[in-house]
Amino acid sequence: MAGASSIRPLDGTLPAAREGGRGQHIDLRRFVMDLVAAGGGIVEAPEDGVLHVALPGETAKELGLPEFAVLVFDYDAAKETPEAEFVTFGSPVLDRLTSLGIDLGRVTRQYAVVPSVRVPPNLMDRIEARIGFNRSRRPVLRTTSIEAYERAVFRFVVSYISDERFVEALMVAVDTTTLADDTDLLDEARAVYFSPQPPDGAGDGVGEGLPPAAVRRPSYGEVVRKAVAYLQARVRPRLAVYQAEVRGYCEKELTTVLGFYEKTMADLVARRDAATDDPDKNARIDAKIEACRLDRERRIADVVGKYKMTAQARLDSVTLQVMPRVKALLEVEHKDTIYTQAVYYNLATNMVEALACPRCGRRFFSAYPAGDGVFVCRPEEAE
Ligand SMILES: [Zn+2]
Repeated sequence: MAGASSIRPLDGTLPAAREGGRGQHIDLRRFVMDLVAAGGGIVEAPEDGVLHVALPGETAKELGLPEFAVLVFDYDAAKETPEAEFVTFGSPVLDRLTSLGIDLGRVTRQYAVVPSVRVPPNLMDRIEARIGFNRSRRPVLRTTSIEAYERAVFRFVVSYISDERFVEALMVAVDTTTLADDTDLLDEARAVYFSPQPPDGAGDGVGEGLPPAAVRRPSYGEVVRKAVAYLQARVRPRLAVYQAEVRGYCEKELTTVLGFYEKTMADLVARRDAATDDPDKNARIDAKIEACRLDRERRIADVVGKYKMTAQARLDSVTLQVMPRVKALLEVEHKDTIYTQAVYYNLATNMVEALACPRCGRRFFSAYPAGDGVFVCRPEEAE
């Protein structure tokens, strides 16, 4: 089955985020959960074998599915839940969901539609309105050039798995020239209209007519590896939050389990202490105490295992977005040193882009001159 996991690899490199071998078994329930999340819907699993699904109106209409559906995955559950749709191989619901999966998960290149590709006359005003250079003289604009900026926007479906599982879609954007993490710039481009056609050479072309940001670009394989690293950096803190939440449930259940065994054990010990001089009976109670101890260890391991939470990611789709942007080279004087700083003005979003910190990678608007000739995002990083 082609599903959400069928993606066309970029220049022959398989995305590293694909899940490793988990057998050939196709888990329908999980396939559907991933699909719905990838399609912008919401999934909840109130109990085993049952999914509550909410699809975006458009998607639901296109697929001929209800916006809110109860899906069940085994025959017995289907009998118990007559209002539910039974999903199995060959069922119409599954076929419709699969067609959703085929529509997703492709690599496409899109070009921003920009009415006029030229350097705005008040570029310096726009830059100074957004970026502040601390402890420095006013910046001087040295040169401007217009280039085609390309970024790869990855959509990952991340599954958080304990005894329950839930999924969420996460976007990561990578500048395909500098490999910078441009995820924080995605919001600004939300209103940009992209076309699958490159603008034609005549007029204000973007992409085809403009020079790329650099002559040598990294391979797309490298872009994918970067995207995975940025994804991990974003998932790790989220996973920690979820793990902490789950740990609370785990501790609660452990308290119950331990309470039960404490009582059972106390009863057994009391019986042994009150034992007669019947050696058989004493031996039986000792055996029971030992069995109880082993049982308790097993239950503790079960509970801990049940609440262990991991995250897995799957690459869902990749879009290459091409936008024209102005590269402005500024000279900024700090003490007796002249710093050269590139600032980008995106002609599709009409925004001055935040600078990317060479120390920590964060985006920032308030710049501090560092000893080694670069601007950084925090005074502490300047030392
Ligand atoms: Zn920084």
